[in-house]
Amino acid sequence: MTFRREETVQIPESDLEGMSVDTLAVRAGQLRTDQLEHSDAIFPTSSFVYGSAAQAAARFGGEEPGNIYSRFTNPTVQAFEGRIAAMEGGERAVATASGMAAILSTCISLLKSGDHVICSRGVFGTTNVLFQKYLARFGVETTFVSLTNYEEWQQAIRPETRMLFLETPSNPLCEVADLAELSRLAKASDALLVVDNCFCTPVLQRPLELGADIVIHSATKYLDGQGRCVGGVVVGSEKLMEEVYGFLRSAGPTMSPFNAWVFHKGLETLPIRMRAHCDNALELALWLEQQNAVESVYYAGLQSHPQHELAKKQQKGFGGVLSFRVKGGRDEAWRFIDATRMISITANLGDVKTTITHPATTTHGRLSPEDKDHAGITENLIRLSVGIEDVEDLKTDLMRGFDALGS
Ligand SMILES: *Cc1c(COP(=O)(O)O)cnc(C)c1O
Repeated sequence: MTFRREETVQIPESDLEGMSVDTLAVRAGQLRTDQLEHSDAIFPTSSFVYGSAAQAAARFGGEEPGNIYSRFTNPTVQAFEGRIAAMEGGERAVATASGMAAILSTCISLLKSGDHVICSRGVFGTTNVLFQKYLARFGVETTFVSLTNYEEWQQAIRPETRMLFLETPSNPLCEVADLAELSRLAKASDALLVVDNCFCTPVLQRPLELGADIVIHSATKYLDGQGRCVGGVVVGSEKLMEEVYGFLRSAGPTMSPFNAWVFHKGLETLPIRMRAHCDNALELALWLEQQNAVESVYYAGLQSHPQHELAKKQQKGFGGVLSFRVKGGRDEAWRFIDATRMISITANLGDVKTTITHPATTTHGRLSPEDKDHAGITENLIRLSVGIEDVEDLKTDLMRGFDALGS
């Protein structure tokens, strides 16, 4: 007698070997109980029970694998970890309470006092604060360099450099770093290359394949994609992730089972969402370039983008975030933003809903005037995180902004 696949409790991961990200998004890390549910069960429990005192002792002693307490492991969280690890092509993933918890856990578990970090300028604002204000207090010094200037990275290397940290494409000007080149520099320097892959997701870019050691996500953005939960994840080798996991288990910023379930299900639609984000963003970038009131457009999909060729080689698509400068200053930018009716004015990104932001007074408002200058955050800069609405309807809404500028 042969059994149908549905009668097995779990799809063996070996059956999925070599399959594409689109398939892994739907099938990897599936959690199926003896109820044979087609979707995935959710385990909202803080702890687990044992059949006997001896079994409890064996679990705590590590002789028997299994769940003990949800700060350590939880089946729903593990399902999400398995799926995202497969999609990034990493041996193991560790889920965290937020994107910042993912970055903190990585740094605390893999760096020590006296170590040096090189970080690209223009990383997510709070990442900057974490390095400059908090890690500095524990003797970890950070040098900030231009994302795209390889010589600056090279010159910043010291004997005690242990980590290179970056985001590519950058926020909000969509600059692109050469990951293969930086991974060679990291290896030669005995440092880890850590990539915040929030903007591309594994659908568009797989940094581990290009030589990165660790990939970090704010799952809050595209992985969820519908603005429901805050979460994060770290992906890398078993050896490195065991360190990150050890810190997480002791310090506690773990992901809740409910959030893990939302992210796990969110991943199933990630590939088709990313394609829709990319199509809409490219179309809007080309359209914005033709508007009289627009001074410049920043999107790696444009021929005019300085790293267009690199982005084409390194990424499978150019992503959903773009920015542009309107002619004028803050008045014009704000007037444009306020005239839109459908697009959401919010600093969040990666949502199926299109969002519009004025970086100079929100996400990058804490930067000093010199740092803003350095990062290209001018008063007339507007960022769009392009959603999956009909692109013609998005143009109609943006046209209200141009009308308000009288162009
Ligand atoms: C939002 C974001 C973070 C922080 O993630 P949280 O989930 O908000 O803690 C880190 N990196 C990038 C690129 C982000 O956009």
